[in-house]
Amino acid sequence: MGDTLFGKIIRRDIPADIVYEDDDVLAFRDINPQAPVHVLFIPKKAFATLNDVSADDAIVFGKLFLAASTWAKAQGFADNGYRCVMNCNKDGGQTVYHIHLHLLAGRQMHWPPG
Ligand code: 5GP
Repeated sequence: MGDTLFGKIIRRDIPADIVYEDDDVLAFRDINPQAPVHVLFIPKKAFATLNDVSADDAIVFGKLFLAASTWAKAQGFADNGYRCVMNCNKDGGQTVYHIHLHLLAGRQMHWPPG
């Protein structure tokens, strides 16, 4: 676990509204939600950015997406739809350098994103 804000959430050093957890993945509500549902899915193994994920990590990375879709189905909005976003580095808009998958739902999404 890296010593980022999200590492501290994994270790329960700082509080978060945790909605899902398994051996590899933790998910909690974003502190500044951009949709009625805005949850961050993070691997417990810390990667700074998508650029740091190797083929050896493919299973953990796949579990991240599966956790998001499993939770979306359990919450009942999967059929209506949702958006998964992963920002990478400065131009991608990344601000926390522990990889995270944003799951946004509960409103119509727009394209292109800002
Ligand atoms: P990024 O900009 O790196 O893609 O996304 C980082 C996200 O983390 C932002 O949506 C931001 O609102 C969220 N965030 C930042 N600090 C905290 C925090 O302390 N707790 C929670 N739950 N979310 C946070």
